[in-house]
Amino acid sequence: MSAADRRIAPAPRTEWPEHFEDHLAGIGCPICTNDFTAEDIAWGLLINKGTFANAYLWRSGQVRGYVVVIFTARHVAEPTAMTSAEAAGFWNEALAAGRAVEQYYRPLKLNYQLLGSVVPHAHFHITPRRSDQDPAPGGPLPFDVLDHGRQDEEQLQSDARGLRELLGCTGSSVVPR
Ligand SMILES: [Zn+2]
Repeated sequence: MSAADRRIAPAPRTEWPEHFEDHLAGIGCPICTNDFTAEDIAWGLLINKGTFANAYLWRSGQVRGYVVVIFTARHVAEPTAMTSAEAAGFWNEALAAGRAVEQYYRPLKLNYQLLGSVVPHAHFHITPRRSDQDPAPGGPLPFDVLDHGRQDEEQLQSDARGLRELLGCTGSSVVPR
């Protein structure tokens, strides 16, 4: 889909996404098909490679610092299907990404959303909320501003380098902290 297409608001969904039940079961899951060792998965740039999850600075949207943390240990749609160790590891690694976003962008507030209603593979959307230029102060961020448009590529690359440094991530290898 081109950047121009992304700016066109889609009609509200009236049905679950195509193959949703297969994707729930891990069949043809659009997240599982990614190479989790890659520094760039097209959707975003790797900023931390964890034991349970990878964090990516996301390319879509209009909110600078939009990060997605994907559970990478295996296909899991619901967090309730994780073991206790996986759940704790996933949350802790999401929080590590959140701390880096806080330190790098100094937002007013961070939001963590775990939805999976379009792509049912466990992932957090971490979004900085700002005191000025926030699209929806006091409420949830509309997904339009995360799905439509594209981040400035130069700024994205530069931000990813800064976030990797904070996370001790050098591309695909991680220095434990
Ligand atoms: Zn999956």
